[in-house]
Amino acid sequence: MNYQWYPGHMTKAKRMMQEDLKLIDLVIELLDARAPMSSRNPDIDELGRNKSRIILLNKADLADKSCNAQWKAYFKEKGFWVQEVNARTGSGIKNIWPLIKEACREKLERDRKRGIIGRPVRAMVAGIPNVGKSTFINSFAGKACTKTGNKPGVTKGKQWIRLNKEVELLDTPGILWPRFDSEAVGEKLAMIGSIKDELIHMEELAATLITCLQKEYPALLQERYQIITNEDAYMTLEDICISRRCFQKGEVPDMVRASAMVLEDFRSGKLGNITLERPEEWL
Ligand code: GDP
Repeated sequence: MNYQWYPGHMTKAKRMMQEDLKLIDLVIELLDARAPMSSRNPDIDELGRNKSRIILLNKADLADKSCNAQWKAYFKEKGFWVQEVNARTGSGIKNIWPLIKEACREKLERDRKRGIIGRPVRAMVAGIPNVGKSTFINSFAGKACTKTGNKPGVTKGKQWIRLNKEVELLDTPGILWPRFDSEAVGEKLAMIGSIKDELIHMEELAATLITCLQKEYPALLQERYQIITNEDAYMTLEDICISRRCFQKGEVPDMVRASAMVLEDFRSGKLGNITLERPEEWL
């Protein structure tokens, strides 16, 4: 589900996040691997400053493999524990366990010194809309998740999913607000589906995506649509209309339909493995 972020919504989301943070030791922050910084909540470092932190580059299956490695190195260098995952298939998820141990090492050590032994680490998943939080919780928690969720009479208040004897997970993710930094960030958020399509000018967005693909992945565009990419994104879009016989009455290119198709092909991975931003753009 997508949300629109008016100041009231943001204040509410922030308050809820602050409440949840009081209960937990570890924040598992989900980013979209296709645009890791654009899909990162702008205040998360501030909000989670006293917590153990893990960053998951989710939807890694849709992103450019070499960029995944670059982003992983980037966040590691900033002091985070990082893992690429595909929440849909569960790929990469088993590698999270050792990261949780590492990320919470200090906390466990503190507990031990205070004589607290065996208290589980309490974790929550957080991220902006559509990064895959619910899918991830389902994959990560597996059967345990449905077990707690189906109990009648326990739906109110906080629900914890006992993952094993060491870790408990809050059953609802923290929904974070996206960045509003710049038009370029907004466009990337729209491309990855974190902003409602109704609010988007599809043709403009498709043209922006095509411009990006022409620069970084021209072969993918050419292969998918059997076209020779043109300097001009709108002309390329028109070529796509012709190649795909995407016409309105009278053989007029249906640019809106072609735009929706290109965006859908990107979002679903049919265009190939694509990352929209590189770490060096964010130094
Ligand atoms: P949330 O809003 O953050 O809870 O996101 P959802 O869990 O509802 O996921 C949004 C969409 O992304 C759904 O269509 C999921 O199936 C899809 N999705 C989630 N994780 C992955 C992933 O790792 N790879 C792919 N290809 N799709 C994913």
